[in-house]
Amino acid sequence: MPEGDTVWNTARVLHRALAGARLTGSDFRVPGLATVDLAGWTVRESASRGKHLLLRLAGPEGGHRRTLHSHLRMEGTWRAYAPGERWTARPAHLIRVVLRSPAAVAVGYHLHEVALIPTDDEAALVGHLGPDLLGTDWDPAEAVRRLAARPEVTIGEALLDQRNLAGVGNLYKCEVLFLRGLSPWTPVGAVPDLTGTVTLTQRLLAANRGRWTQSTTGSLHRGQTTYVYGRRAHPCRRCGTAIDKRDLDDRVTYWCPTCQPTP
Ligand SMILES: [Zn+2]
Repeated sequence: MPEGDTVWNTARVLHRALAGARLTGSDFRVPGLATVDLAGWTVRESASRGKHLLLRLAGPEGGHRRTLHSHLRMEGTWRAYAPGERWTARPAHLIRVVLRSPAAVAVGYHLHEVALIPTDDEAALVGHLGPDLLGTDWDPAEAVRRLAARPEVTIGEALLDQRNLAGVGNLYKCEVLFLRGLSPWTPVGAVPDLTGTVTLTQRLLAANRGRWTQSTTGSLHRGQTTYVYGRRAHPCRRCGTAIDKRDLDDRVTYWCPTCQPTP
């Protein structure tokens, strides 16, 4: 599931493949960008902001600065290939962007919100985000302040709201609430230790930086990587109660009714 750690890892893959390279060609398969040609542009860096990917480019004469923005949502991914290597990650019809350099080809599948904007205007796309859990400027006090500003919202919703803190998706939301013994429907104002919740969330994401398996239990064995996420009807690892699941739109929630009593 693409959450902040996956997006951080993806940004690093793109950075290693393309940073410093002069692009030899590009192919955009998204409306509005089909005629864009980035040949001659240089990739300055690849960065993530919450769940947003920012590929920063400099124009052929160096003057123009553009950012290629993309969002992975549930299904998206970027892969780097050697020139001539077969692109096998996903079916070809899901390809949205191809960037070619002399040493690597980056292929973006199933991307959302693909946009090419002046780098100076990045704030228009990511300026609303709360502190980035994996950013160098991560600020837990500011995240707590933003959460606490709306005490009536449930903690399950508030953790997913990227304006409070950027990078949490359903997996980390479910797992951190289990570890803190909080029902997802606890109002933020009734959470005893918001700082502890925010700090643990950051630790869980940071622990998975640099690997693609997301584990909150410490185990990387299949079927043992989470406490509640993806474990509907399985016994709670702490108390044996069957894990419950609720689907609200795309906001899937797993929880242990015993360890996380409804307030
Ligand atoms: Zn339990």
